[in-house]
Amino acid sequence: MLADYHVHTPYCGHAHGKVIQYVHSAISSGLHEIGFSDHLGRYYLSKSQKRRYWDWGMDEKNIGRYYSELSDLQEIFSKEISIKIGLEVDYIEGAEELLKPFIDSFKFDFILCSIHCMPHFSWEHLSYFSKRTETLPLYKEYFRLARSALHSPYCDSLAHLDFIWRNVSYPLSAHDNILQEIAETVYTAAQLNRCIEINANGYIWSRAHSSSEAFDPFMFLIDQIQLYNVPVTMGSDAHDPMMVGKAFEDLVALLKSRNICTVQLFSDREPHSAEIG
Ligand SMILES: [Zn+2]
Ligand SMILES: [Zn+2]
Repeated sequence: MLADYHVHTPYCGHAHGKVIQYVHSAISSGLHEIGFSDHLGRYYLSKSQKRRYWDWGMDEKNIGRYYSELSDLQEIFSKEISIKIGLEVDYIEGAEELLKPFIDSFKFDFILCSIHCMPHFSWEHLSYFSKRTETLPLYKEYFRLARSALHSPYCDSLAHLDFIWRNVSYPLSAHDNILQEIAETVYTAAQLNRCIEINANGYIWSRAHSSSEAFDPFMFLIDQIQLYNVPVTMGSDAHDPMMVGKAFEDLVALLKSRNICTVQLFSDREPHSAEIG
């Protein structure tokens, strides 16, 4: 089973191409399943929170269109590929009750939960912190939020835990501290039986930036996932049809080399596992 469970669409306003092109790309890449997980907008948040900065998600009008276009494609392509309908939702601490009616009004297959901003510091996207030098407090807050997100009822898989070190300067002097944070987060996922996403961008970043395995947080993450036997989803985070299933061949080989041989799939938010490959 090869399943890409992190794919965006033009409905979020910053992805390219047409939805059907993502499906064609998945089929030609040999995927068996494609899980769309476009960004949910912040329209469900309280007045003081929402739209304070650029909203990178679908608005209320587009989420209905997104759902109905994907439902149509599910039927049209049912003999060629399995299409799952999901969402990528920002984890905003304490907003679960506000989120509930918006999520429950559609029958989603899975929900990815991710941290793109940390309201205690700022509502801005984490990439806005790229020039900061004292970054350990940011990392500590990020992993605290990640562990809190795993308790959310809207977190079938915790997406791109690697997002922090791809966007915010890595505090190398506190390396052991960061590894401890990663280990605790993976352990929390194991306790709660939540998935952690293996993100292709995290893998590609790791290949490009890590000088040795000893300083490679991505590989440490994989090792912890193996150690605690945490279920995983795989995701390209494609914002362009060409990127669907990106680096999956290498990722599958990597996971198998670490004895991670199953991937989690979802239908109607019920998980089931399948052998990778
Ligand atoms: Zn994301
Ligand atoms: Zn994404």
